[in-house]
Amino acid sequence: PQLANQIAAGEVVERPASVVKELVENSIDAGSTQIEIDIEKGGHKRIKIRDNGQGIARDELELALSRHATSKIATLDDLEQILSLGFRGEALASISSVSRLTLTSKPAHQDQAWQAHCHGRDMAVKLNPVAHPDGTTIDAADLFYNTPARRKFLRTEKTEFQHIDDMVKRIALSHHTVGFVLRHNGKAVRKFVARSEHNKSKRIADVVGQKFLNNSTYLKTDYDGVKIEAWLGSLSEIRSSNDCQFSFVNGRGMRDKLILHALRQAYEMTWGIAEQPAFVVFLAVPARDVDVNVHPAKHEVRFQQARLVHDFIVQVVSQALGEDSPDKAS
Ligand code: ADP
Ligand code: MG
Repeated sequence: PQLANQIAAGEVVERPASVVKELVENSIDAGSTQIEIDIEKGGHKRIKIRDNGQGIARDELELALSRHATSKIATLDDLEQILSLGFRGEALASISSVSRLTLTSKPAHQDQAWQAHCHGRDMAVKLNPVAHPDGTTIDAADLFYNTPARRKFLRTEKTEFQHIDDMVKRIALSHHTVGFVLRHNGKAVRKFVARSEHNKSKRIADVVGQKFLNNSTYLKTDYDGVKIEAWLGSLSEIRSSNDCQFSFVNGRGMRDKLILHALRQAYEMTWGIAEQPAFVVFLAVPARDVDVNVHPAKHEVRFQQARLVHDFIVQVVSQALGEDSPDKAS
């Protein structure tokens, strides 16, 4: 199983930020309202995630670490309407095959927390009772220690942490009711307090900045089942890089070319700007109209009606920008 898991890991675990993504998504799936992320040395040394979610029962710990074990898909119908973020049952097995993984968990109904270590070539799991509050902690140390070829591809501590920070921002934007703390080498780098359901814009200010929020054009509309909610950066938020472009499809962070292309086209049409605009865009399309299963790391989608979605975005965004005078940016 070790080798198969390592091969799967090549798909799921590109770099420390992908480990953070998988683990934080699991915490969210488990209903956590507070998630603490501790990173050491850009994640080379350690990635530790602690949540206050529903936990994993003692008898389920070993299963959670095995490949294709997911508690999230019961029927094929579920596959077509994937609601929870994780759905392949590969992340924990993959991560444990390329790191020294410790899983500690306590469901509220269990008196005692249990800790599982994976060790050896056959990935034997050892269980110990430990003290831990309700919820789960996953500690993945020494990433790629046993796959030197992959370890070589890790960039500097600073670069890897930058990717993690970006990932945490993305997840925090799409889950504003969850509180997040991100620490690097013991120092708190981000603290996003849990916001109430109707206070999404507060979280946007937390992540992208109050100035961005104040000057942005807000857009919320829908057509034929496709919904868009967007905060469109003003002229003062035009950037030389693309680090302030956040798009989400059905709640998942996406590096989506279609959305980016449509937005840039709208900015160019209305304000004549060809540089990188800043934006936060949430798109919702009926589940049957997108295929999120394109890549195991799940940051790509395929739209059934790509052209229609693209043109819809161009139209509503250019209209919203057109109604807002660019002068207000100054
Ligand atoms: P998937 O998320 O695709 O189901 P994973 O390998 O990411 O697969 O996780 C395997 C299983 O372990 C999950 O289905 C879930 O039951 C359990 N699990 C993982 N992380 C957590 C967590 N933080 N809290 C509660 N359960 C978890
Ligand atoms: Mg998962």
